[in-house]
Amino acid sequence: MSQVVKLRDIQERALKELTNRLDNYDIFSLQMPTGSGKTLVALAFRYMYDYRTLVCVRTRNQLMPYIRDAVKFFNTIPGVHLNKGRVCLYLNTEDTELIRCRSCPNYKQTAGIPPETFRRLKAALVRAVAKESLTDPYLLVDRVWGKLLGKGGDLSRIICPYHLFRALDGKALVCTYPFLTYPHLRYYLINYRPEIIIVDEAHNLEDAFKTGWRSITYEAIVRAREELAEYERSTGNSAKAGYYVLSLVQSWFESINRRYGQIEEKVIDPSEYIDLAKEGNAVLEEYASLVSSIVRYKKGRYRRRRVRFFNYRILAFLDLLTDVYAGVEDLVLVLNKGRAELRRYRLRRLYRQLFGPFEGSKVIMMSGTMPSANYLTKVWGIPSERFYVIDLGTRYGKFTCVINRRVSSKYEYRRKEMYYKFAKLLSGIYSTARKSVLAVAPSYEFAGEVGRLLSMSNMSLVVEVEGTRVGDVYERVRKGRYVIIAVAGGKLTEGVEWVGDDGSSLISDVVLLGIPYPKPTEYEELVREYISSSSNPDLQFLYQKERAWVLIRQAIGRAIRKKDEECTVWFLDWRYKDGWWQYRIAGLGTLRR
Ligand code: SF4
Repeated sequence: MSQVVKLRDIQERALKELTNRLDNYDIFSLQMPTGSGKTLVALAFRYMYDYRTLVCVRTRNQLMPYIRDAVKFFNTIPGVHLNKGRVCLYLNTEDTELIRCRSCPNYKQTAGIPPETFRRLKAALVRAVAKESLTDPYLLVDRVWGKLLGKGGDLSRIICPYHLFRALDGKALVCTYPFLTYPHLRYYLINYRPEIIIVDEAHNLEDAFKTGWRSITYEAIVRAREELAEYERSTGNSAKAGYYVLSLVQSWFESINRRYGQIEEKVIDPSEYIDLAKEGNAVLEEYASLVSSIVRYKKGRYRRRRVRFFNYRILAFLDLLTDVYAGVEDLVLVLNKGRAELRRYRLRRLYRQLFGPFEGSKVIMMSGTMPSANYLTKVWGIPSERFYVIDLGTRYGKFTCVINRRVSSKYEYRRKEMYYKFAKLLSGIYSTARKSVLAVAPSYEFAGEVGRLLSMSNMSLVVEVEGTRVGDVYERVRKGRYVIIAVAGGKLTEGVEWVGDDGSSLISDVVLLGIPYPKPTEYEELVREYISSSSNPDLQFLYQKERAWVLIRQAIGRAIRKKDEECTVWFLDWRYKDGWWQYRIAGLGTLRR
């Protein structure tokens, strides 16, 4: 052990269970209650047991607890794999893979920092983290490098934040999910060769796995045309090959949009993109060479300004589409509200596809709401012979559960009368609630419908929409007693701590408005079909129910901040009377009839 820190009993148990079994198992599922200190367990692998450790978190805000706890408990800072496109000194872009560092003077400058200077820089960052309250590491970069850049002088002599942060600790690296899940971004992590990979909030891996690799929108095509025109104007070079490709892509895109409109997750059959894939493939090389010139031109022109590379995006999409068509990549083309996306769909390959390239690494998936071992092996394809499950409990606090069988969120019943019944029940619960009420709807549309009916009453109400800002909602709820209608899996049930100034929860009641099953889109249907095509036909039910149960447990976890707190959970749907649900609800707390 390198360093000793006083751990809680549950943290010690988790570490003991894990470290004792590292020789015999390769994959671990670690279930620990929310708030029990999983961050410190993860950091202990590096700072107490000296393993080369990679930690993957879902969002950039979730990077900060790792940085803060490393500073607080070990007086050091882990390496952070930042988004290069966000912190590069020369280019600010979402197309991060286009930034090449080898010939950059700042790369050489950073690689050659004398050890003493490096130690001083690291110590300064440790002090800054300890002193300032920051919500994500990019703010730290902005503050420190903002000052340096503001002074003017020779830019090429400034240390590169991207490379400095990565090098802060040779044996600990934290990053966000996209660097693990997108093949074009994860080569660095594979080369990093971690001994231990820790996936935080691992119940989210499934959604990350299903996110589109490459996508295009109508706007991207239009902007790509403008980009070609600008390139021709400024350089005098011809962009004829580009116009040809864009007209192919545009006419295909317009025709499928005409056919399907703003549909959600429509699976596009290969016969509907065969011409695009073939014709696109024939001119891909010529287009790729033009795109390289455009990228070079824009990098020079937009130095130190925000820039997007639209033709590069079209090229990347088309390139992947032709691979999919040729059977090189096993993805599916999905049209989702006007966006064409290439996505994975074979969930049973999740484990192999995400972690297969990390040969020799041990994988620890941890969460307060881990799916069951059955689900992880059957649906995510985790090989059971190398897999070990550690369950240290799901929750703190005391729950009283109530099932109401007069309503349902089943699709065929989603009509005005049903929304009215939900609104009425919610209003009744609010009238007797001790604190704010967190209601969880299966979708944004559902939340909107119930919210509209309640907006006429005089209760304090917040309804989650796609762009809801968590901080704003939190500030309002901190000052009053609200009904918050959140969406299962959305921002208000996942990454937010509803905690008051005294450290206790702001929520006394959680209300499940129906069951948060995924919308029965064609894409979801395809995912389910693939799962159930195995020898076990019940798996598609397991897939649906377990996913919903994870979302429900996430929402419920928001209501407890202290061990002895109490919460009433209202299950509003007659389908909760089914044995599968009854068993789980009874395990949660006291069932009130
Ligand atoms: S070394 Fe740093 S500054 Fe240079 S190109 Fe790479 S990320 Fe940008």
